[in-house]
Amino acid sequence: MAEVLVLAEHNGGEVKKVTLELLTLARQFGEPAAVWAGPGAADGQARLAEYGAGTVYVAGGSDFTDYVTAPEAELLAALVAGKSPAAVLLASTGQNKEVAGRLAVKTSSGLLTDAVGLAAGDGGKIVAEQSVFGGATIVHAAVTTGTPIITVRPNSVAAEPAPAAANLTNVELTVSAAAKGAKVTEKVVQERGERPELAEAAIVVSGGRGVGSAGGFEIIEKLADSLGAAVGASRAVTDAGWYPHKFQVGQTGMTVSPQLYMAIGISGAIQHRAGMQTSKTILAVNKDPEAPIFELADFGVVGDLFQVVPQLLENIQKRSGN
Ligand SMILES: Cc1cc2nc3c(=O)[nH]c(=O)nc-3n(C[C@H](O)[C@H](O)[C@H](O)COP(=O)(O)OP(=O)(O)OC[C@H]3O[C@@H](n4cnc5c(N)ncnc54)[C@H](O)[C@@H]3O)c2cc1C
Repeated sequence: MAEVLVLAEHNGGEVKKVTLELLTLARQFGEPAAVWAGPGAADGQARLAEYGAGTVYVAGGSDFTDYVTAPEAELLAALVAGKSPAAVLLASTGQNKEVAGRLAVKTSSGLLTDAVGLAAGDGGKIVAEQSVFGGATIVHAAVTTGTPIITVRPNSVAAEPAPAAANLTNVELTVSAAAKGAKVTEKVVQERGERPELAEAAIVVSGGRGVGSAGGFEIIEKLADSLGAAVGASRAVTDAGWYPHKFQVGQTGMTVSPQLYMAIGISGAIQHRAGMQTSKTILAVNKDPEAPIFELADFGVVGDLFQVVPQLLENIQKRSGN
């Protein structure tokens, strides 16, 4: 069976959850093999093995930390030429979409971005599901030329362990001068609290204008923390300065696709939906029974969030025994 290459997302030795999801998806279409660019492969090996990577192709040089995107595209292109994989899967990040675009040009292959699901189609083709036009349309598409290159959004599938060997295999690659056109001069690691990253979180609790003020947003944070969730916000909230812009979910903010999305005091405008409607389960709390968010919610509570959320918190605390 041909391999399916998965570009590993990692912080040095720590493998990001989305990589485990991509390995889980890759198993449907071939032998999952991870591609590790930069240092730390030995530290990430056990995790990749746990989630089914038979092989880990490693290019550990500093070129992958000193330069952005182009070296990764060259590495993947070399592996596509040498291994003829069934597909290449990457996490849908801004940087990876550039890697994928470069790779598509280098290998004369078709590219699909922002898939929210993959399935086997006619003739063994990989069919990607995409949510477009602000989520108003679902597209099913398959690559017809070259090696399918597909970027997949985090949380599109639940990661499932399937132990494999994860043999580390060094890839000899001399990164071209052309790929070193732009050098990284400084990296500033953003300070993060205890909460999971918004794009990767399995549960997201988002607050909207219904919270009433910056102070009112505290209840959203409390609920998120009780569930180990990330916090999101509508644009009304970020524009008002009640919460930082980087937490905005929607067309002009982040796209999230968690297992559970809680929309608290959010009306459900089309631009907000565009960033969250592929969530697996959606729960809405809104005092207006006609709020559009209820059209797509799996569970809805009509009521004042300042009465509903404290009750929710109380019950979560009871269940978790805290
Ligand atoms: C080009 C463009 C891009 C945009 N991009 C984005 C984007 O990326 N993300 C985004 O979110 N928006 C975006 N918007 C804005 C979007 O159109 C909406 O204005 C915004 O999403 C509304 O935010 P909201 O739901 O928090 O506020 P509102 O629409 O004001 O809704 C507040 C809701 O809270 C409810 N409520 C009030 N008090 C309570 C209470 N005590 N308890 C329970 N419920 C209560 C109300 O019934 C109401 O439904 C964009 C708009 C444009 C034009």
